[in-house]
Amino acid sequence: MFADRIDRARLEELAMRQATWTGQLGRSELPRLASLLAEGAAPALEATVRFAPVESGLAQINLSLRGHVQLVCQRCLGPLDWAVALDVSLTVVADESDTGRLEDPFESVVLPADGLHLDQLAEDEVLAAVPLAPRHGPDAACSGPAQLGADERDEPGGASRPFADLAAMLKTGQRRSD
Ligand SMILES: [Zn+2]
Repeated sequence: MFADRIDRARLEELAMRQATWTGQLGRSELPRLASLLAEGAAPALEATVRFAPVESGLAQINLSLRGHVQLVCQRCLGPLDWAVALDVSLTVVADESDTGRLEDPFESVVLPADGLHLDQLAEDEVLAAVPLAPRHGPDAACSGPAQLGADERDEPGGASRPFADLAAMLKTGQRRSD
């Protein structure tokens, strides 16, 4: 959707006129998220991006993501509906040294040399929020432990979380998703 990369001049222009973009993010925009979902499920998120000027930094990006995705329940390995409702404010800075001047340096993103890629930015935010070991709640239809060992019951902090490792790996981009 937001496939084109935004360079510094364009970003500042968008911020100046406080542009708002809306659109849909699907499988092709969210390949890393898609690889975490239940078989046959494709992500479909409504995205709204608002650009605003800031004193310290190039622009502020207010990102809203809404929708539902089907994760894989780590107890029964069935599909698990996860509601996405994320609102993120990020300050875009020219380089790392600028983050020191921000009130909250963690809510910043450095403008990449080849421009800002909003799809990837949105996907990063969703991946950071995805539960690492999602499980059906007590009221949901969970068909119970599948091929899991006896020590893999309901403890949320269970030591063995093979899919958590996978999710973490996907987050760091060390694994290509096809
Ligand atoms: Zn389940």
